Amino acid sequence: MALIVQKYGGTSVGNTDRIKNVARRVAEYRAKGDQIVVVVSAMSGVTDNLIKMAKEISPLPNEREMDVLLSTGEQTTIALTAMALHSLGLKAVSLTGAQAGIVTDGVHTKAKIQNITPKQVHEFLDDGNVVIVAGFQGQTAEGNITTLGRGGSDLTAIALAAALKADLCQIYTDVDGVYTADPRLVPTARKLEEISYDEMLELASLGAKVMQSRSVEFAKKFGVIFEVRSSLNDNPGTIVKEETKNMEDVVIRGVSLDKNQAKVTLAAVPDHPGMAARIFRALGDASINVDMIVQTASHGSGTPATDISFTLDKPELLKAQKVLAGIKSNIGYREVIADENIGKLSIVGVGMRSHSGVAAKMFDALAQANVNIQMISTSEIKISVVIDLAKGEQAMKSVHAAFLG
Ligand code: ADP
Ligand code: ASP
Ligand code: MG
Repeated sequence: MALIVQKYGGTSVGNTDRIKNVARRVAEYRAKGDQIVVVVSAMSGVTDNLIKMAKEISPLPNEREMDVLLSTGEQTTIALTAMALHSLGLKAVSLTGAQAGIVTDGVHTKAKIQNITPKQVHEFLDDGNVVIVAGFQGQTAEGNITTLGRGGSDLTAIALAAALKADLCQIYTDVDGVYTADPRLVPTARKLEEISYDEMLELASLGAKVMQSRSVEFAKKFGVIFEVRSSLNDNPGTIVKEETKNMEDVVIRGVSLDKNQAKVTLAAVPDHPGMAARIFRALGDASINVDMIVQTASHGSGTPATDISFTLDKPELLKAQKVLAGIKSNIGYREVIADENIGKLSIVGVGMRSHSGVAAKMFDALAQANVNIQMISTSEIKISVVIDLAKGEQAMKSVHAAFLG
């Protein structure tokens, strides 16, 4: 008898027919005698709609209340899924994140899981139930509801698979697996049979929303092998696991485009030691994650000054602008320029370590597509560029064609 954790994303539970479909799939596994823990997302569009309503009331809603609000999406789905399983004659019980023993820190809207004590999950499983857990949510030690960041149901599934020592972890979604690029943007993208944790992590953090990046980080840390597959057919999916030797033979595993980034430039920052530290400490203290950072050479006559640009997630822009306004007199920069019309295009592959000329090939492909590069950053297994958002998809296709056909 195997213990399987199955996660169903928003589209897979997008309406009551889809929920019945999920129940049928769960019932098939149950009929084989396996124990099943199901993690579900909110029905597609529900979380976005809750955020929209909150923003209609306040541009920067209180984050504790935001979590109380957002957690309701998944709570609806767990109950409906349990009812669908009951209709098929199965024993099933729904649990909120807190009831499933998921304890997090108190960083509302992007809390980190601190520990999981799935006592109730075990008890209900032992009693012959399918256990349905609300994804994306947990509770602080003090009892406040938290959420785990967008796409966080993936993390719930992987963390539960680790805590329960599950035999299998399946991430059911609306595509057949992980592709060389988002198949909705690049029609020639191919499904991958397997991908390493590191490559999946880079792709996910660089905009491939098929997996939440923090969930992949967690899977790597705890060695949770998982499969990404479709809830709409029985095709084999993509296995995500530790890197194997032959994976380096492929130079580029995938291409991703992050349209959810913004660029902030602090113009004319006095060029003194400690300025960057002050700026980024203030942002860090507000839990704002900054990604690429570029500082220009000193310029101007009189006191030397420099421009510092960085990228961040678009939804954090307002908060960042507020933080920067608060330290203006302390730093003495001239102005903050925000640009939301950027995209971050990246290529990822562990094969980059052992192949040369990869950057040149990417920049050639961009030049051919007449795309200007605003910022560049690289790591051992990725190259990212910031480009004009309007040219993002065209650039992505051109780079994909150059490396992956
Ligand atoms: P779920 O609601 O199941 O969590 P998501 O919408 O979060 O699903 O993620 C699935 C989507 O991710 C797909 O519909 C696809 O458009 C997108 N996607 C982006 N990059 C990739 C990729 N490299 N491979 C597969 N899907 C991708
Ligand atoms: N419902 C949440 C979101 O839309 C979590 C998830 O779907 O994984 O981000
Ligand atoms: Mg998702």
